[in-house]
Amino acid sequence: MIVIKSKNEIETMRAAGKIVAETLDALKAITKPGVTTYDLDQLAQAIITKHGAKPTFKGYRGFPASICASVNSEVVHGIPSKKRVLQSGDIIAIDVGATLKGLVGDAAVTLPVGNVSDKAKRLMEATEAALWAAIAQCRVGNYLEDISSTIQDFAESRGYSVVRQYVGHGVGRQMHEDPQIPNYRQGKRGPQLKPGMTLALEPMINEGVADTRVLRDKWTVVTKDGKLSAHFEHTVAITDGEPDILTLL
Ligand code: MG
Repeated sequence: MIVIKSKNEIETMRAAGKIVAETLDALKAITKPGVTTYDLDQLAQAIITKHGAKPTFKGYRGFPASICASVNSEVVHGIPSKKRVLQSGDIIAIDVGATLKGLVGDAAVTLPVGNVSDKAKRLMEATEAALWAAIAQCRVGNYLEDISSTIQDFAESRGYSVVRQYVGHGVGRQMHEDPQIPNYRQGKRGPQLKPGMTLALEPMINEGVADTRVLRDKWTVVTKDGKLSAHFEHTVAITDGEPDILTLL
């Protein structure tokens, strides 16, 4: 069942989303060679809690940290670690969730560390552009399939593949609500978009094959072929008019 949010709930989600955006902004500023993913996690936790919110991911099914930090061939759900020292040329996907008054904002970006290759830049640029193309589909009257097919077509037109095993999702009182939002065609139009739906769109796009596997830490998802992956995410509310992005500064 897709939960429709009230105006008040959406405003609280926007407040949570602003905290997420501020956190991502601060993390971007310190993402440099020599910084560890643990450092990023500590800063994120400090900012989220300073605002009276909770890091949504911490403790979620036992996840041990406040952010997911996924480097290079890691797709999503990387666990921050003191041992993971960022190096020039890496790309890092950072996913942040904040829960404020019981409502969740969820967003992710992929950032370059130092000087990265042109192919890494192109992958990041395409993944972010796929997200924006998908956001443009978040209009009353469209169907879920319009979001899914837009992301797939965009990624594949650039020669990339779309991760199948992990998908976007409804978000609100829970981090993961209905509907699931695949980044690829389902072959059926799915639910129609309605005002008050709040959706976390999150293309996960690979340079090589779409297949992934999970590392022995039981969390970190990596590409099967070891090639790069990128991930961008925003939480978006459907309105009578323009898509309302809730995870902006
Ligand atoms: Mg998400």
